[in-house]
Amino acid sequence: LAMLVWPTVVMGWILNLLQRGAASMSRLNEVLQASPAIAETEGAGAPLPLGGAIELRKLSFGYDGPPVLNDLSLRVERGSRLGIVGPVGSGKSTLVRLLTRLYPVADGMLFIDGVDVNRLPLALLREAVGFVPQESFLFSRSIRDNITYGREGASSAEIEAAAELASLAAEVRRFPNGYETLVGERGVTLSGGQKQRVAIARALLKNPPILVLDDPLSAVDARTEAEILRGLAGYYGERTVIIVTHRLSAVRDCSTIVVLREGRIAEQGGHDELVARDGLYAAMWREQQLRAELAGL
Ligand code: ADP
Repeated sequence: LAMLVWPTVVMGWILNLLQRGAASMSRLNEVLQASPAIAETEGAGAPLPLGGAIELRKLSFGYDGPPVLNDLSLRVERGSRLGIVGPVGSGKSTLVRLLTRLYPVADGMLFIDGVDVNRLPLALLREAVGFVPQESFLFSRSIRDNITYGREGASSAEIEAAAELASLAAEVRRFPNGYETLVGERGVTLSGGQKQRVAIARALLKNPPILVLDDPLSAVDARTEAEILRGLAGYYGERTVIIVTHRLSAVRDCSTIVVLREGRIAEQGGHDELVARDGLYAAMWREQQLRAELAGL
């Protein structure tokens, strides 16, 4: 019986996901079309990074001591998906932090649409890059306030559409006060995974041309992560998306995957290509496959 039921369950699940993704996608586009473009909110000045093409030119970076990123060169085309993987401490988070200038990078190393990030107004840069950090910060305020942080004027329709895409909406609806539910000491305690999805919804609401997800779903299991990422994929469109992750399954569909090792690009290519190369990526892939099989036993 199990063998008969299982495909039906999976099909239903996929259809549901597709429907949900398509519906929330068109809704978000609809509501976002009403929002002013970044170009209109900024005065004249540096060219605007609306496209989302990213280039690293021999990028090196160190915090205070020796470099933790060494001589990285890479082009990320507008609208493409880049996955960044590698062992702990290989420099993945450091690299994406530089994109929003959380730390200063030297001139001539990092470009968005051909413009050195150091020449872009910081506010503009941060508007263009929707960044979901590993540890997201939530305020002791309502879920609504937490999602709209950075885009305070957002409408309820926009907020709900962003929450839907982040696979958060169903849970919020179950809270006694919905989006007005307080978070933290005086309200509900959100799980790690829920907090992360609030942070994702917050980034989506900004409608950024570049979306950077730094291990954004580490608090949920691999299957839930895959489900959430699938829901998000419909939103990507022309956006440039960078996903840092310790789970290779999350970057399988990326056009390019960069494998960092000790601050250098050790390997680069698509999933199948990297598996066939039989190097570091392939070894990590085999290990994770094995773990997944063991967990499923
Ligand atoms: P990954 O994301 O691949 O785990 P990180 O970018 O976090 O790697 O770290 C790369 C290196 O930089 C590590 O050696 C780490 O200890 C160091 N590092 C990370 N963040 C800081 C920081 N804020 N200050 C100093 N060193 C840091």
